[in-house]
Amino acid sequence: MQEGRKPEPAVVEPWKDPGAVPYIRIQEVTKKFGDFTAVNNVSLNVYKQELFCLLGGSGCGKSTLLRMLAGFEEPTSGKIFIDGQDMAGIPPYSRPVNMMFQSYALFPHMTVQDNIAFGLKQDHKPKREILDRVASMLELVKLSSFAKRKPHQLSGGQRQRVALARSLVKEPKLLLLDEPLGALDRKLRESTQFELMNIQDKLGVTFMVVTHDQEEAMTLASRIGVMNLGQIVQVGTPSEIYEFPTSRFVADFIGTVNMFEGRIIDEDNDYVRIASEEAGCTIFINHGVAAPPNAHLCVAVRPEKITITHEPPVQIGENCAHGIIDGIAYMGDMSVFNVKLDSGKMVKVTRPNLIRHAEDAITWDQRVWLQWDPASGVVLTT
Ligand code: ATP
Repeated sequence: MQEGRKPEPAVVEPWKDPGAVPYIRIQEVTKKFGDFTAVNNVSLNVYKQELFCLLGGSGCGKSTLLRMLAGFEEPTSGKIFIDGQDMAGIPPYSRPVNMMFQSYALFPHMTVQDNIAFGLKQDHKPKREILDRVASMLELVKLSSFAKRKPHQLSGGQRQRVALARSLVKEPKLLLLDEPLGALDRKLRESTQFELMNIQDKLGVTFMVVTHDQEEAMTLASRIGVMNLGQIVQVGTPSEIYEFPTSRFVADFIGTVNMFEGRIIDEDNDYVRIASEEAGCTIFINHGVAAPPNAHLCVAVRPEKITITHEPPVQIGENCAHGIIDGIAYMGDMSVFNVKLDSGKMVKVTRPNLIRHAEDAITWDQRVWLQWDPASGVVLTT
């Protein structure tokens, strides 16, 4: 899994600056529908020019949170501030916000150009200004030559770009996007993700995107808020979320992970040793953990962090398991190996296919050795 964003210079990480003022401040917001709590005591700060992704499974409350920002729902309790202003009682049309819906909601009888111009006409903007702003939006989303077409004469990706242009033409300070790429096929999604990031970079608008697609969130986001059962369970940059999940839920939800149950047998400030029957070895981690001696916990190791060999390592010991190949999936650029350890635990290991017909090709039913670095395991206590 890769990140699509350029590494950001330190100053463009306002969440690390204690003096930075958040653009969106969500304070202890709860939304109930009858007895059902859709959003449960969420607090979150989002900063200007972020592309923040709310990521979670179906029904976790992400759209409800977005709709509260847009003003289509009122919180049952808690407060939302946008640009320092309390949003309580402020209707959607008076907020500095625009929302792009999953369905794009284009007017079928209008041309691309008229679809984009619609909001400006409603605001009675001068004709010249409307023409200029629509033209610059068409250029931005690379649809200048499609201005006279109707939505049914466009591809899904082009319709998505019209909807984006229409949401941006009124220059909202905050654009809310609910599953913006949901209707596109995989290839188109990938190219559109990069376009979306470029447009956001160019305009400097703050984007809040709802998605259930973790790869999309990893590619697009400056930061991700992972949601589960109405709560935000972790907020971080894509690499923080992937490399340093703070719970089993997040480790399991983002990417693929192997989890080994175990018990602390030795620890200090800068290391911990965990006996794991499942792994069939002692797991050594090169940092301390906040858990009592003897605590039962779980160690997460990503498949790409494990090396797989036919030969036993020179030193058999910690972070070294062995088992039998139980399944292989050839994915082109890499292969995924399912390894059954002696404990019965199934472990996934990925290996890039660097050389065609590699001589050390690993095949079914072979005995193999697995190893990982002390820095690769993540200890999870919740
Ligand atoms: P999805 O990815 O499936 O759209 P989501 O995370 O966006 O899911 P929400 O639309 O926020 O989920 O809904 C969260 C929960 O609140 C769901 O269980 C949903 O059934 C419930 N819910 C949403 N709107 C209402 C409503 N108007 N009345 C009653 N329950 C609602």
